[in-house]
Amino acid sequence: MANNDCIVIKDSNDGYPLDMFCVPKHYEEDLEKILIPSGLIADRIERLALEIVHDFSHEGLVCLCVLKGGYKFFTDLLDRIKQLNRITEKSIPLAVDFIRLKSYVNDQSLDKVEVIGGDNLDNLTGKNVLVVEDIIDTGKTIQTLLTLLKTVKPKCVKVASLLVKRTPSSVGYRPDYVGFEIPDAFVVGYALDYNEYFRDLNHICIINDHGKQKYAS
Ligand code: 5GP
Repeated sequence: MANNDCIVIKDSNDGYPLDMFCVPKHYEEDLEKILIPSGLIADRIERLALEIVHDFSHEGLVCLCVLKGGYKFFTDLLDRIKQLNRITEKSIPLAVDFIRLKSYVNDQSLDKVEVIGGDNLDNLTGKNVLVVEDIIDTGKTIQTLLTLLKTVKPKCVKVASLLVKRTPSSVGYRPDYVGFEIPDAFVVGYALDYNEYFRDLNHICIINDHGKQKYAS
């Protein structure tokens, strides 16, 4: 697997102690460590936005947000692209669309990926589509979504994922734009949840056993 397309966080990475950054009091006992501080996420997204603007030039782009986990990455990435649109020669007209998928309960992947809401995908026919995902773990969710998208015949589909997990269960899928490659651990924060908790945490953190028990469904 080629991994020189993003920031690789090695298995040996110690991350950062919680008390070196600001973490909501209500989560202090539920996290093992901070893996990616929010400032680093912002800086990486700035660069991804630049690459996307470069690749699509003046062609219009429909950005498809995969809810709920992708909403922070989606809004921050689009803010950066819009900023570039304002200050550079090239600018890409943007449209937005949303789809809601469910593939996890607790920290376990479900075999079946469910579409549980979103816009009518027919709007994407003939369009350049950028799918914006929070994390690729096994890759099954994105593969299901890409198969679904094919049925409405977009002009082209690219995928931006903030995170890609190194896991032996990977189907081998690699997105077009990747923020960080991370170790095989369950991460929360920056809109990534554990049973709907931790979306209100700014940094990407590794949940601990206490947190998993406390918020188990
Ligand atoms: P995949 O189908 O690639 O195995 O899983 C993708 C989906 O599972 C993601 O969109 C996300 O909703 C969820 N997921 C996978 N790994 C994690 C993780 O470490 N933390 C969280 N919060 N969600 C995850």
